[in-house]
Amino acid sequence: MPANSLLTDIKYLKGVGPVRAKLLADDLNAHTFRDLLYTFPYKYIDRSEIHTIRTLKEGMPYVQLRGSIVDIETEGIGRKKRLKAIFSDGTGYLTLIWFNATKSLEDNLRYDKTYLILGKPNFWNGQISIAHPEMEDCAKLQTEPGGLMPHYHTSEKMKRAGVDSRRLGAWVQNLLDTLPVGSIEETLPAYVIAQHRLLPIEDALRTVHHPESSLALPPAIHRLKFEELFYLQLDILRSAAGRRRDNEGYQFQKVGERFMQFYNTCLPFELTEAQKRVIREIRRDMGSGRQMNRLLQGDVGCGKTIVALLCCLLALDNGFQACIMAPTEILAEQHFATIKELLSPLPVTVELLTGSVKGKARKQIMQGIADGTVHILVGTHALIEPTVRFLNLGFVVIDEQHRFGVKQRAALWEKNVRPPHVLVMTATPIPRTLAMTVYGDLDVSVIDALPPGRKPIQTIHYTQRERGYMYTGMMRELAAGRQVYVVFPLIEGSEESNLQDLETGYNNLCDVFPAFKIGKVHGRMKPADKDAVMQAFKRRELQILVATTVIEVGVNVPNASVMVIENADRFGLSQLHQLRGRVGRGSDKAYCILMTGSKLTDSARRRMEVMVESTDGFVIAEEDMRLRGPGDMDGTQQSGMPFDLKIANLVRDTDLMATARDTAAALLEQDPEESLPQNAVAWQQLKLFKKSQQSFSEIS
Ligand code: ADP
Ligand code: MG
Repeated sequence: MPANSLLTDIKYLKGVGPVRAKLLADDLNAHTFRDLLYTFPYKYIDRSEIHTIRTLKEGMPYVQLRGSIVDIETEGIGRKKRLKAIFSDGTGYLTLIWFNATKSLEDNLRYDKTYLILGKPNFWNGQISIAHPEMEDCAKLQTEPGGLMPHYHTSEKMKRAGVDSRRLGAWVQNLLDTLPVGSIEETLPAYVIAQHRLLPIEDALRTVHHPESSLALPPAIHRLKFEELFYLQLDILRSAAGRRRDNEGYQFQKVGERFMQFYNTCLPFELTEAQKRVIREIRRDMGSGRQMNRLLQGDVGCGKTIVALLCCLLALDNGFQACIMAPTEILAEQHFATIKELLSPLPVTVELLTGSVKGKARKQIMQGIADGTVHILVGTHALIEPTVRFLNLGFVVIDEQHRFGVKQRAALWEKNVRPPHVLVMTATPIPRTLAMTVYGDLDVSVIDALPPGRKPIQTIHYTQRERGYMYTGMMRELAAGRQVYVVFPLIEGSEESNLQDLETGYNNLCDVFPAFKIGKVHGRMKPADKDAVMQAFKRRELQILVATTVIEVGVNVPNASVMVIENADRFGLSQLHQLRGRVGRGSDKAYCILMTGSKLTDSARRRMEVMVESTDGFVIAEEDMRLRGPGDMDGTQQSGMPFDLKIANLVRDTDLMATARDTAAALLEQDPEESLPQNAVAWQQLKLFKKSQQSFSEIS
């Protein structure tokens, strides 16, 4: 068979044809023979294990049973016809059910035969049934069933067209049988295979689709996962290297007056070691002559703002302007206020540009940005509008990354002759595997310690019945002069939901706490009104702030010590963690109270447990990813991976991902021109891995 026969159109595979080929293309993204071989089983059923009806339990996956039919009945007529057979293996009875059963199926069921059946048992009303079992006549089985049977995902549409897991598996087998042994070409460089003791691709593919035994499977899966992660990382690292080569950056050589003066005389506190280390990393980047693209990760409250500010001063000292972009007006205003205050002893001009800065004021700021009299510009998305022209922008800070897409970042690069250095800051801790992948083009710095003196936040989960305890706790803190946030998932109640809403909650709180002043903020208010309430809360004129998640990100009121989250089960883990991060910013002990009903889904209950058990953002992020799957993590959809993983798993295969990344990095370093013969296979395969993804985005 010719070398590239694996790229043959799948429609030419025996039994497929053009109609089913379209189905495979649409629903499995499989276009070629190769794609079919790379459609992996998602599970295996051990065919050597035969269960007994008596020992079946609820929740069991597919099981095999051996027995015979003791009764057959049909219900309904025509298209609604349903066939039922009572099946027994001597330890009990269950019902086999076929909907829309055909006549031939009915005729083939015989009382005098022993069958081996395979299916998923359903329990209902003390009865067990299996719908649409796979059945084999034991007399016709050539050998005892044994080995692992692969199961493939198929869509509803495919199943309706008769292309179920079994059919698909038969096609794969058929294809493998037509390929002479030794004809599947290796897809990784030989030295990589040797170095990591990987199975040859031929063995891995044959085994994964048809394992001889359960012992043969792990090395095959390992090999395929490695390959997949290797090409994923090679792709990411390659484009990052390309961008680095292309993007010369401004070289910030000196640490000048403003940085030193601020560092020596204006810092309100001693920086933590983690903060100092990150500043050193950033300075090294900025001095390298290459454009910096760095992700700064640090849990809420770890002190990212001051790091960003010091780096802005570095830019200023080297004759450049800097800007800080925040995802919301409230945050932009807060950064502006903080920074203006901190910098007041220095001759530095800081301005704020948001959508609500209008008219003459806006014109003046624009003028100042263009002529260089504005040194640091703080703002929202308004900063990336093309009308905003800097004289000489050298450094950009993007706060709370997950609300900004890659496109928006790119728009900032165009604001100067060379792209400015970019620091992306996020408090959504991204698990290491995901950071490596989704932000693979960014270098990563981590602030992994909180400023000294912080007391850990105590998190408590109360159900509605325990609401009284929550009020008691609030009262104790309010009486001690602290402030409280109460967050609701909705602004107003809707008829079909029994969720706590902000308006009702506000009225209740006014009744319960008549002696305290209560304010509310939510997304439907005008920015100026929101701001007025926030400022009043900051000045302690309000003691309780009722809010929606508009306060999720970044708001800083150190005197607030209690965060109450109503209907906490409505929020995802990372959101809950963000909300909790609004308290515990001062040196007093802080509390987060999660209110829910008493009936919770398993996932919601787990989320509450995780929140109560841990305040570590990274633990929470890992757990979040485990519960929701990586595709769902904040900010990952927009960043996107170069291709979907078919066999490796971002959560479970952390170590393998790191190995694959190191291997890809070494290859790239050794062969930047992509010309070494021993790597030819890698560059060629990389295209194939990327291509299979492309065809998917074209059709979907
Ligand atoms: P985040 O990383 O969540 O953006 P901030 O930059 O808003 O955190 O900092 C949280 C709080 O911690 C602020 O009040 C800030 O002034 C304070 N802070 C930051 N660094 C230190 C430090 N090294 N020592 C003491 N307090 C600090
Ligand atoms: Mg912040």
